[in-house]
Amino acid sequence: MTVLSDKLTSLLGRKTATALGEALDIHTVGDLLRHYPRRYAERGELTDIAGLEIGEHATVLARIEKVNKRRMRNKPGWILEMTITDGHRRLECAFFGNAHQRERELRLGKTGLFAGKVTAFRNKLQLANPEYQMLDSSDDSTMDDFLGAIIPVYPAAQGVPSWSIARCVRQVLDTLEREPDPMPQELLRRNGFIDLFDALHNIHRPKDHAARETAERRLKWDEAMAIQLIFAQRRFSTVSRPAPACPPKQGGILESFDRRLPFDLTSGQRVVGEHIATDLSGEHPMNRLLQGEVGSGKTVVALRAMLQVVDAGRQAAMLAPTEVLAAQHARSLREMLGELGQAGELGAAEDATRVTLLTGSLSAKERKQALLDAASGAAGIVVGTHALIQDTVSFADLGFVVVDEQHRFGVEQRDALRTRGADGTSPHVLVMTATPIPRTVAMTVYGDLETSALRVMPVGRSPISTTVVPVAEKPAWLDRVWQRVREEAEKGHQAYVVCPRIGDEPPSDKSDKRPPLAVLDVAAELEAGPLEGLGVGVLHGRLAADEKDAVMRAFAAGKLDVLVATTVIEVGVNVPNATAMVIMDADRFGVSQLHQLRGRVGRGDVPGLCLLVTEAIDGTSTRERLAAVESTTDGFELSRLDLELRREGDILGAAQSGKRSSLKLLSLLRDEDTIAEARSRAQEIVADDPSLAAHPGLARLVSSVVDDDRVEYLEKS
Ligand code: ADP
Ligand code: MG
Repeated sequence: MTVLSDKLTSLLGRKTATALGEALDIHTVGDLLRHYPRRYAERGELTDIAGLEIGEHATVLARIEKVNKRRMRNKPGWILEMTITDGHRRLECAFFGNAHQRERELRLGKTGLFAGKVTAFRNKLQLANPEYQMLDSSDDSTMDDFLGAIIPVYPAAQGVPSWSIARCVRQVLDTLEREPDPMPQELLRRNGFIDLFDALHNIHRPKDHAARETAERRLKWDEAMAIQLIFAQRRFSTVSRPAPACPPKQGGILESFDRRLPFDLTSGQRVVGEHIATDLSGEHPMNRLLQGEVGSGKTVVALRAMLQVVDAGRQAAMLAPTEVLAAQHARSLREMLGELGQAGELGAAEDATRVTLLTGSLSAKERKQALLDAASGAAGIVVGTHALIQDTVSFADLGFVVVDEQHRFGVEQRDALRTRGADGTSPHVLVMTATPIPRTVAMTVYGDLETSALRVMPVGRSPISTTVVPVAEKPAWLDRVWQRVREEAEKGHQAYVVCPRIGDEPPSDKSDKRPPLAVLDVAAELEAGPLEGLGVGVLHGRLAADEKDAVMRAFAAGKLDVLVATTVIEVGVNVPNATAMVIMDADRFGVSQLHQLRGRVGRGDVPGLCLLVTEAIDGTSTRERLAAVESTTDGFELSRLDLELRREGDILGAAQSGKRSSLKLLSLLRDEDTIAEARSRAQEIVADDPSLAAHPGLARLVSSVVDDDRVEYLEKS
């Protein structure tokens, strides 16, 4: 009999086991049985071809629509060309070699499973030399691997197609032993879950959809529990640490700041501000996530919190993902503070503090001074990149860390902060994000954080309309894009053109992909051609600071019509007269980044226009993401669509610094109830048994579902 921890080698033979191990990192019976079908094909129904990713290994159930055998042009031998379809979209296939035998197997009108790497050729999607398994072949032996009409389709790889995996799974299931269930019986009964043994059988070889669904419910529960147990343990260990308490002070710098604020706080800013003020006063560390779109007023909230900490005689640090953004933050904090931020300078207010920028691009002398300010406590607020907390910067008394853009700031980085306070205390942490996060993601990926949101913009915005410009299918639309930019300029408005790259980098040596469009090239081409006669400026992160300032000032003053830039304009640029934004190679940016970028237009009274130029091919997941950006300007709705389109595993994967994902079945989109239920059960269990010593089954579950390194890491911290 077989148990989950058995190696596959003895069961499947060395050749097969090695192939599974190398291609899919599957080594044990447990690994194989937790390699669930990606989806199920129904005998007689075709797979929707939309949403394929270029470069991915895909398996589709499709019908042969065209077959054509011809002689190769330059070599002896035959080539077999074939088109397969799901009834709407098509995939081109080409076979080299064995053309005569294949011609006998691949008959017009027949259906089968086809598997291979997705590529693009002349703007069409291709599977080159796919592996296949015809379903209506007369040879029926392979079909015994599928029970009934439901055919599992597995995440597969070259040389290990879905149907071979199905065969291995079957072999393993036939000898699988019923082991004690890791989930406490009480929990299973309470929620009506079936046991693990039955669930594993039914997820792989369901006799009908009802059986598959019951299995899925149980296995999803395992995933939700494993993750929530980890977060419950993390929350437990965080809140049991000491933090520097920073109660508000009467007559301090925060009160002076509030008196000088040129506007009233929005109700959202007030409510969130009060939560934060209470958290900061506490003796255990705050761990809070603040969501709010660009311009929703997060910086003001963060600054007020930092001032409360300064009032308590401690320091605050603000971390940005890049040096450019850090410099911008420092500038805008100083501006908002005015004379309250000029401690040590002439004309400073009485209880003033100092905002110190500490980045790698400072001169040696400046850097020395900044390090000194941080270490002596002269700087109440230190602004820098994540390097601030990674290396040797020492603080006199760090009480609070604000992290801007959590996307690039994972659990590990937050952990690096844990002992950075005076006497080994844990500073309070506020993570800010401009991308709204659906509740389930917050519970799953940032499950150790409390969350707050600013949902109302302080000042009105004009609507922005977004259009995808698919130059692969419609090359003429590009001319129309530049014409639109000219029209805006003629009306006295301005435009941004954003490119993914600067263009002064050395060429990368080996890549079959065209390098992304570059600011310097695009600006030169536009000036010489489509935008001839307009004032075109260039802005990117490697310009000298004074050049950057000069360009920005010229654009803000309306002396330039068009600004060709990298994403440096993502934050901090505010020119209400700019009405149009053209994003070149838009597919090279993420959904939330595109959303943030277009937030630069529509800031005045005139509606904004955003054009997403792309060569991505229709039917790819890339194009679906762009279509999502086109379809809505509501950040929360967009975050939901983005979630739907991304491989959900990626989300957790990213939060776990790229390690193997632990979400296989659990959907952050659809399983909100399961996740919430698991969160409360996990909270109860960990409150009684923080180390899970009395729940060995659950402890094992955590390690079987979540990557081993990760668990070890959690135990260490
Ligand atoms: P975020 O950091 O969320 O992108 P900011 O805090 O930078 O947003 O605020 C965007 C702009 O709105 C800034 O110019 C800021 O001064 C202004 N602002 C913030 N809060 C308010 C408010 N309550 N009323 C009016 N303007 C505000
Ligand atoms: Mg901001």
